[in-house]
Amino acid sequence: MEKEKKVSMAIDCPECGKKAVMTEFIKEIPFFGKTLFSNLKCTKCSFNLNDISSDEEKTPSKFSVKIESEKDLTVKIVKSSTSTVKVPELGVRIEPTPSSEGYFTNIEGLLNKIKDSLSFSSLEEEEQDSKKLKEKLMEKIEQARNAKISFTVIVEDPFGNGALIGEKVEKKSLEEKEVSELKTRMRFLEH
Ligand SMILES: [Zn+2]
Repeated sequence: MEKEKKVSMAIDCPECGKKAVMTEFIKEIPFFGKTLFSNLKCTKCSFNLNDISSDEEKTPSKFSVKIESEKDLTVKIVKSSTSTVKVPELGVRIEPTPSSEGYFTNIEGLLNKIKDSLSFSSLEEEEQDSKKLKEKLMEKIEQARNAKISFTVIVEDPFGNGALIGEKVEKKSLEEKEVSELKTRMRFLEH
């Protein structure tokens, strides 16, 4: 296999404004296509953000899959910073923000990411109620990671940058109305 060519350039760090390094390379993801992987790293303030986006013309789309077995946990997910990811049964909704990261992993990896972000966001002054809710969610994620409960994963992306890849995956195009209801990074930046 051809080795990916990495390209690096200096750009202003979105966090501290000093010079940061953006590294990019293009790699083919099977059943998705040419994909641009990027990393922005700042050594001055330790800002570090990964992202991915399709390098091909794509249309707004919605992917969904029902996870019911251990095998289903290996369904692949392409999540871009522009993607919205929902797991209704867990009450999880990941929306694009300026600090959203992009990644290519599988459902198990996604659940690990959700778990990590939960333990990160533990505030000291957390209310007892929200602490309990979080513990409950952690427990559910643990069950989901072991395929003990069935759940749905939905990936929506107004630019077609996100996807689910697997036999059981359902894909449909997003209507204009649905696209306008999705939070996009661009709209966020405009405000
Ligand atoms: Zn910085």
